[in-house]
Amino acid sequence: MSVADIQKNTQLHSLGYDGPCPVCGFHLKNPTYNNCPECGHELKLVIESPFRMTAWLVFLMGLIASIAICVNQICLLMVGVIMNGSNIPWRFLFPELSALLLLFVATAVWRLLFNWFARRSKTTRVVTAFIGCMLPFAVFYVEVVFIVLLR
Ligand SMILES: [Zn+2]
Repeated sequence: MSVADIQKNTQLHSLGYDGPCPVCGFHLKNPTYNNCPECGHELKLVIESPFRMTAWLVFLMGLIASIAICVNQICLLMVGVIMNGSNIPWRFLFPELSALLLLFVATAVWRLLFNWFARRSKTTRVVTAFIGCMLPFAVFYVEVVFIVLLR
């Protein structure tokens, strides 16, 4: 047992924890080891922030859902090609692939903007979250309109 392990043991014990193991529910009272005696799960002292659904995350999810819609449309187009034995409809596929590429680039850029976006005003964050919620719907209907116009 290393010095760090002994220090961790001391911390767990000194907390006077009296409650269930987070994995198996075995009752722990002032645990003297880093592992649950019942299931062996490693017990750790952690300080973590609770999960927050931030505007940044909502917008990221909107981008990811939009990518899924594009991939779905491309797959449906290719199913049609396979089922009918027809040629690849590039006039439909090219806008889909362009939108997909644009969404991938936007997602990569959005990931880099995490810290910058955290400093934006509340109004900007609320509007961005709303746009993130609406983005998959907008992408879907713009694609539908494109397909109808390109027929
Ligand atoms: Zn356990």
